[in-house]
Amino acid sequence: MTQDKLKSSKPESHPPPLMRAIREAMAGTESVQERLDGFATAIQSAMSVRVASIYLLRPGAELELSATEGLKKSAVHKTRMKPGEGLVGHVALTARPLNLADAPGHPLFSYRPETGEDPFNSFLGVPILRGGRTLGVLVVQSKQSRTFTEAEVEDLLTVAMVLAEIIIDDERVGGKKGKLKGITLAPVRPETMEGKAFAPGLNRGTAHLHLPPVSPANLLAEDVSEEQARLEEGIAVLRASVDAMVSGEAASLSRASKEIYETYRMFAYDRKWVGRLREAVSSGLTSEAAVERVRNEHRARLMKARDPYLRARLHDLEDLANRLIRALSGEKVGPGNRTIADDAIIFARELGPAELLDYDRKQLKGIVLEEGSATSHAAIICRALGIPLVGRCEGILDLIETGDDVLLDGETGTVHVRPVESIIDGFKLRMTVKGELTKAYDALKDQPAITRDGRKISLQLNAGLLVDLPQLDQAGADGIGLFRTEFQFMVSDFMPKLKEQTALYQGAIQAAGERPVTFRTLDLGGDKILPYIDPVPEENPAIGWRAIRIALDRPGLMRYQLRALVAAGADAHLRVMFPMVTTVDEMIEARALFDREVERAVNLGLTLPKKIEVGVMLETPSLAWQVSAVCDHADFVSVGANDLMQFFFAADRDNARVSDRYDPLHPAALSVLKFIAHQCDRNNTPVSVCGEIAGRPLEAITLAALGYRTLSMPVTGIGPVKAALLKLDAADLSATLEPHINVESRLSSLREIVQDYCTRNAIPV
Ligand code: PEP
Ligand code: MG
Repeated sequence: MTQDKLKSSKPESHPPPLMRAIREAMAGTESVQERLDGFATAIQSAMSVRVASIYLLRPGAELELSATEGLKKSAVHKTRMKPGEGLVGHVALTARPLNLADAPGHPLFSYRPETGEDPFNSFLGVPILRGGRTLGVLVVQSKQSRTFTEAEVEDLLTVAMVLAEIIIDDERVGGKKGKLKGITLAPVRPETMEGKAFAPGLNRGTAHLHLPPVSPANLLAEDVSEEQARLEEGIAVLRASVDAMVSGEAASLSRASKEIYETYRMFAYDRKWVGRLREAVSSGLTSEAAVERVRNEHRARLMKARDPYLRARLHDLEDLANRLIRALSGEKVGPGNRTIADDAIIFARELGPAELLDYDRKQLKGIVLEEGSATSHAAIICRALGIPLVGRCEGILDLIETGDDVLLDGETGTVHVRPVESIIDGFKLRMTVKGELTKAYDALKDQPAITRDGRKISLQLNAGLLVDLPQLDQAGADGIGLFRTEFQFMVSDFMPKLKEQTALYQGAIQAAGERPVTFRTLDLGGDKILPYIDPVPEENPAIGWRAIRIALDRPGLMRYQLRALVAAGADAHLRVMFPMVTTVDEMIEARALFDREVERAVNLGLTLPKKIEVGVMLETPSLAWQVSAVCDHADFVSVGANDLMQFFFAADRDNARVSDRYDPLHPAALSVLKFIAHQCDRNNTPVSVCGEIAGRPLEAITLAALGYRTLSMPVTGIGPVKAALLKLDAADLSATLEPHINVESRLSSLREIVQDYCTRNAIPV
């Protein structure tokens, strides 16, 4: 039904006949199989079709005929097909309805004699979706050759939604009743799930579902016209709240948030989205269920989209859907307005920066996502705020209820749900030890990191956003060794303007006071994608068109940024470095661009920085072999060990299957690191390491032994690294490692040797 039709037709109070039949089928039935059978019978009779069948995806990814009215009953639990196989498989694969007048004439039609389906011509199949997952396919068939009406498609989609909730509920309830998918998951049982640790920290807390599930009991509306009125009211509240965010409250937030809200406003007024919601409610769903259904359809389609822009839009729509559900429940929507427990651990499929801002930071003890990535906005913000985040916990939303006890381990990526006493005890012990260690590190805050043999090591912070800056003093860092400027671009929905860039850089310089801040120019490409720039699809993005390569080919963006940096550095000490430089020529070219911006500032009579240093990031093996030559053009060298190691070992750092395959303490890697330090020393060029390894005590003391005097790391590394360095005799460790760092060594790692050394010398690592 179109929106216009919907408006012109008089509101119908009674749910459509199919929904009434479904209600009746749900009442009083206990077992899931009975419910499925009841559904098939109800659909067949209410839609006046010959066949109604339910196919469910079983473990092993096969669709199985699980209930039917009209096909041979003997085929139930026997007829199976793969997604993509036959018409039913096609619906599952595409996650879209398929409406055919002549099914046997379709090239994908696959004949199954055991079902006795040959005499049926028309076919309508709709996917059974939940959370973007396809759980199965619902099919109706009739003898007569006709296409089904839009209203019939709509009705069947509604039934599919109800079915999805029943299936998931069955999974959740589990136990003896949970036979449907062969999965027995009980919410009362303890569960341990392994995800990916995207922001460190250990916390115990109370689960809070970012979006509470719509229970099967609340899917179907009692009175359609009342429900239509409820939906309109909810939409009005939502629109008013989004308008208020854009015009008022958001003014106090960052510009990034404001822009995100503006995108929300666009969606909140999107006629198509609202039209789909209205249609779903008219077909008999409650408003909440309608939101869920429209969301599922979007998810299923857009999750297949590889285009990050489209995926980001999906995320905006999800956020809006969440807000609408909250508005329907009468909850206030807006920043800081979410009611959660004082020790809440938020569970969501994905979480955007604006959604994160909706929660009171003091109450947030952690975040668990089904999706997410190390470079997602939520992860970046969580790391900056010290909130543990575990991502890629697939299926966890089906296991968790609001109020569940949760142990969140942001160090290993483990989530314990409803843990047993023994797990709680062990976890508490770790939390206590960590708490004590944190206190001990705090006590070292103002102490310089000087090794026992007198080497002063400068411990600096890796940062990128305003929220990172207070950490400088809290951790007692000696400066910012790596300011990842692309973060500001990534958390914004629009390209940050010159003024905004300048303001952020100025903020960092001011927060650091006399301490140095090293700005790295935009390191885009690879996995760092901007929502507002069309990505260039690449086979191997990590070694593709990224960072300095983009900057030199399209210098406009970098010159703009360099302009902001020169302006921010007025009257201050400005340090700038370029990422992913592979040849000396690239460094010369990049430096020339910087010089042009300084020249421009001179010509305009602007205030110049008091001191300027332009450095190079050493992240590619080729540059390691030209380090001496590049020192002629760089005031300092910063080793980007994350990238250097991925290229050195040919192991994608974002691919969990290979990223940990090689140890950075491999003697070959240490030879390169030692060579770089030595060459820089010979050239009197200061050198530092700013990859993740600099923040791990064992690796950090090894780097100190190799001759590095500056290490830049995530905030969580500063205390532990300092504690280890204070106990280190760098020359002694250097002598211990020396015999193993050469081309003769056949070891795969010197970790054990360093670990033994630490044990013998009581170095806390
Ligand atoms: C690195 O590659 O080591 C580095 C510090 O840069 P990023 O992690 O941002 O690529
Ligand atoms: Mg890098």
